[in-house]
Amino acid sequence: MSQGISQAVRFDRELIEKYNRAGPRYTSYPTAPHFTEAFGPERFLQEVEFTNRQANPRPLSLYVHIPFCDTVCHYCACNRIVTPDRRKAVTYLDYLFREVERMGALFDRSRPVVQMHFGGGTPTYLDAGQLERCLEVIGRHFTLLSGDAGEYGIEVDPREVPPGTLTAVRRMGFNRLSIGVQDLDPRVQKAVNRIQPLEVTQAAVDEAKAAGFLSLNLDLIYGLPFQTEASFRHTVEEVVKRFDPDRLAVFNYAHLPQYFPPQRRINTQELPSAEEKLRMMETTINVLLAAGYVYVGMDHFAKPGDELAVAQRDGVLHRNFQGYTTHGECDLIALGITGISQIGEIYAQNLKELEPYYQRLDEGGIPVFRGLVLSRDDLVRRHVIMRLMCDFQLDRHSLEHQFGIDFAGYFSAEEQEIARMVQEGLLEDDGRILRVTPGGRLLIRNVCMAFDWYLRHAEQKKSFSRTI
Ligand code: SF4
Repeated sequence: MSQGISQAVRFDRELIEKYNRAGPRYTSYPTAPHFTEAFGPERFLQEVEFTNRQANPRPLSLYVHIPFCDTVCHYCACNRIVTPDRRKAVTYLDYLFREVERMGALFDRSRPVVQMHFGGGTPTYLDAGQLERCLEVIGRHFTLLSGDAGEYGIEVDPREVPPGTLTAVRRMGFNRLSIGVQDLDPRVQKAVNRIQPLEVTQAAVDEAKAAGFLSLNLDLIYGLPFQTEASFRHTVEEVVKRFDPDRLAVFNYAHLPQYFPPQRRINTQELPSAEEKLRMMETTINVLLAAGYVYVGMDHFAKPGDELAVAQRDGVLHRNFQGYTTHGECDLIALGITGISQIGEIYAQNLKELEPYYQRLDEGGIPVFRGLVLSRDDLVRRHVIMRLMCDFQLDRHSLEHQFGIDFAGYFSAEEQEIARMVQEGLLEDDGRILRVTPGGRLLIRNVCMAFDWYLRHAEQKKSFSRTI
């Protein structure tokens, strides 16, 4: 385990302009476009059984996907179903509970659920009673921890939480909250079809604080229509001053209307220029660092005492499909449509549409439709990429020791690119530790791309967003 990882970051415009190109976000390696339908439920079951038989089976992390939203935000790039018809959620829960029961039966009950996250879509599309029922059913088929021993989080849309909901959510066992804010400017909100008056967000944050959630995250997005450096600075400053969140995720809007149909409703003329976006990014970093937050990585900032920042300093930060997270020691089980599980040495994704998902469960099966068994090379490279993404450094000796390889020989094809990044100031290299410089940290995706075998060799099936 590495100790004392630096969290320094520096906005280096020259480097950013040179390296800003499309690339994966590395919530997994290999990335999802490389999953294959040759991987099916049988292989999934085999891996689960194998992990149960380990001398010390890993604890569990659950991801529960609630895909529904009442209205569509025009910047949306998520897999979601937009409908005001709440009966759809009743049917969905019916099937979700069948999946919970079926999956729960596969995993040894001695494996506690140390982490759980409800994401979407909009989990708070469900009312408090439905959410409580979810926890009740999950608790019947998995071993949930009592009190606040587990890290149980939920994403919240303030427009969807009547007064009292968050208090009830806290009481039923959730202890981490993530609230979508995006931008406080009414003009921006109108252009992206997400009207969320300040009082609505304030009410949700106030109730969350009174209810005693252990960590509060807020999401913002820059690069949306009508935003300027000055307007976004105002949003960031106001959010910090008014809401004082433990964490902030500040996402860069990637305009890819060819892949995400709701984005076609965004008028490209109204989008800020690339230059203005860079200024917003620089300002965001400066404002948040001055306010005492540390830069965790990619889009994430946290107070120094927040568990994400602490995990990073201790060298135990982890990255999975939900982004940066603690509890890297877990096997991750995804429940609901589209979710991706990471168990042992496999990835497995659930069916993406409601009807096939329902049909599979009606037939008595589990809804896995594709996945991947990681090769030894995938495992080596995943380790390299995850350590770089989380620690911003890589210890060659510990990698060699863990995988029984000679770094120089194994990565001879990458040597030239590593040397170039050292020369250009993204990396420092003392022969043992490859360390990302403060100026290189914002370009961590580019550093990782150098180790991505698939980027070099395989045909890309999907365009990625730009790295900045
Ligand atoms: S951005 Fe979130 S709330 Fe908005 S439509 Fe997409 S999933 Fe729903």
